[in-house]
Amino acid sequence: MDQKIKEALYESLQMASPSGSEEQVTSLFTKVISPFVDDVYTDVNGNCIAHKKGSGTKIMFMAHADEIGLMISYIDDRGFLYFKEIGGIDTNLLPGQRVNIMGQQGLVTGVIGKKPIHLQDKSENSKQLEPEDLWIDIAAKDKADAQSKVQIGDVATLQGNPVQLNDTLLLSKSLDDKIGLAVLMGLAQNLQSLQTDKDIYLVASVQEELGARGAKMITEAIRPDIGIAIDVTHATDYPTMSPAKDGDISLGKGAVIPMGPNMSKGINQQLISMAKSNGIPYQIEAIARPTGTDAREIQVAGTGIRTGLISIPCRYMHTPSEVVSLADADSAIALLSAYLHT
Ligand SMILES: [Zn+2]
Repeated sequence: MDQKIKEALYESLQMASPSGSEEQVTSLFTKVISPFVDDVYTDVNGNCIAHKKGSGTKIMFMAHADEIGLMISYIDDRGFLYFKEIGGIDTNLLPGQRVNIMGQQGLVTGVIGKKPIHLQDKSENSKQLEPEDLWIDIAAKDKADAQSKVQIGDVATLQGNPVQLNDTLLLSKSLDDKIGLAVLMGLAQNLQSLQTDKDIYLVASVQEELGARGAKMITEAIRPDIGIAIDVTHATDYPTMSPAKDGDISLGKGAVIPMGPNMSKGINQQLISMAKSNGIPYQIEAIARPTGTDAREIQVAGTGIRTGLISIPCRYMHTPSEVVSLADADSAIALLSAYLHT
């Protein structure tokens, strides 16, 4: 991956962008992508659209800027904070996690508390947790002290700064879907040298984790001929995953081309033939229903849009320790660049 794009990826991973609060990430996206396109603008709900004008097919690429997170919902008399979850979160993973709350005066660090194992009775120990069983401790003296730093409605993310595990594997929170944004930025960089007359839109969408809401808004607005989402998918190359049930997807074996009713057969055929003729590694995944990505809303916008999806394999999705391979992101950039060249 190009050094500048990698730096932008790292910067985005250290930002907090729970659904509905994507501004930091979309302004970074704007800064990085602006030199490669004719125009960048943001719509009323925060979707960020980069446009490289052309006279040919109108094609839209989309990755989402938001990540899962928490929202402060109640502050008790002792200054402990209660929260609601934004997006799909495994509540049992939350105890002991450190959080960054986007307070009015800046970031506030806290920890999600739970009674220690020594003091739990058996039923507490094996319980499926609900958010209201937990709290965030920001070391406030009392309610008023907590309220001076955090308001009801403030949002938070789990801490999980990026760490490179080896030459290619990256560990971080929110690689879903900041790795997709890095693919968009890499693709934009390649536009300078690509010979194409296509009318190209590169979109950082909002609120994907709440049901691809941004994708719906922006696809209706742009009305592309073709829409391609870039997101993560589950790698299945670790214990407890079953190829028979979960498919056979590995980190480092290339970008994933999903098959199924959400994706246009013609686009998939083109992507596969591009991958083959250019020697780009790729993997195939079967998804027999609408995907849990922006592609779901892209396809059904207006009277229907020809839709594609490229996925980056990811271990431990929606935890603060997601793992992806930068080589797979490079495969996705190469594949989409080759596709634009057609
Ligand atoms: Zn995602």
